[in-house]
Amino acid sequence: MEIIQRNVLKEKPKKGTALGFGRFFTDYMFTMKYTASKVWHDAKIEPNEPKSFDLATSVFHYAQGIFEGMKAFLQPDGEIAVFRPEENWARMNRSAARMCIPQFPVETAQKGLETLLKLEKDWIPNEKGTALYIRPTIVATRIMLGVHASTEYLFFIILSPVGSYYAHGLEPTKLLVEDFYVRSSIGGTGEAKCLGNYAASMKAAELAEEKGFDQVLWLDSNEKKYVEEVGSMNMFFVLDGEVVTPALVGSILPGITRKSCLQVLKEKGYRVSERRISIDEVVEGARNGTLQEAFGTGTAAVISPVGFIRYREQDYTINNGKMGTITKMLYDTITGIQYGTLPDDYGWRSIIR
Ligand SMILES: *Cc1c(COP(=O)(O)O)cnc(C)c1O
Repeated sequence: MEIIQRNVLKEKPKKGTALGFGRFFTDYMFTMKYTASKVWHDAKIEPNEPKSFDLATSVFHYAQGIFEGMKAFLQPDGEIAVFRPEENWARMNRSAARMCIPQFPVETAQKGLETLLKLEKDWIPNEKGTALYIRPTIVATRIMLGVHASTEYLFFIILSPVGSYYAHGLEPTKLLVEDFYVRSSIGGTGEAKCLGNYAASMKAAELAEEKGFDQVLWLDSNEKKYVEEVGSMNMFFVLDGEVVTPALVGSILPGITRKSCLQVLKEKGYRVSERRISIDEVVEGARNGTLQEAFGTGTAAVISPVGFIRYREQDYTINNGKMGTITKMLYDTITGIQYGTLPDDYGWRSIIR
């Protein structure tokens, strides 16, 4: 694969810098292009520098674009491991299908990622809780204002050394249950990791933040009755010893962390179910004590305990606002596999050589 070198490398964040999420970017990126005649072509590594685009480029107007989020972890022996990348590529092609974006060749994307990671190894932070976040993206690049699927696309992968997703780290999060705005609906685009979903979620998130909450807990768009997810995390509840997560009914993003947690829980013998779960069941459980734990799962936030929920002006505390034992077990298991401190029993570490 062609590598276009840069003359001067960027200064890396100093050891001990609070990395936050998505604030620093590495020296290089992977790109490839699509045109109707050449299909996917011109795969290369190039300097991560600003590019210029005509303002009539279609993604700026109609948001025909998709992305993914993965992480690379430095292993104790100095190797680089990516968590389940094949799952992300498969999901990205499913998102592409939903958004009329042509399917991309997974082998080229994976090869690009591997080349990029080997080149950028020194950017992988090695302090506890940090990782190199991987952001593959496809955007429609045809210069055209007609509302039609583009005939040209840019695929790129940029990398960002990250710390904790939430400013307060592993402290339990506070969620505001949203019963007016909706994130997605069945038949909509909630199942796809597409650009517009996130723009549509910002209004409710901003209102929640003004009230001191970390995130919005979304309900189904039809009845505003069933719990869906958090917008960057899937949700789990421990109710009377059973671990419950909303079923993938078509409006929920099928998280890879969610899928991994389900597998760990099943193999460890927990009672697990994927089903519809109403917000009334959750708050009733919080009231009578049968709701033992709640947590969110996602690549960015990993496993994030939920300590407080507000629904219709009523506040509910879960597990005294502390991280529960199942939450902790999953956090330790998933991060142990990611950071290479536990054996890779499920074959989830993809070692980059
Ligand atoms: C990315 C994402 C998640 C989490 O998915 P993972 O594959 O676990 O990172 C959950 N919900 C939404 C809306 C997302 O975009």
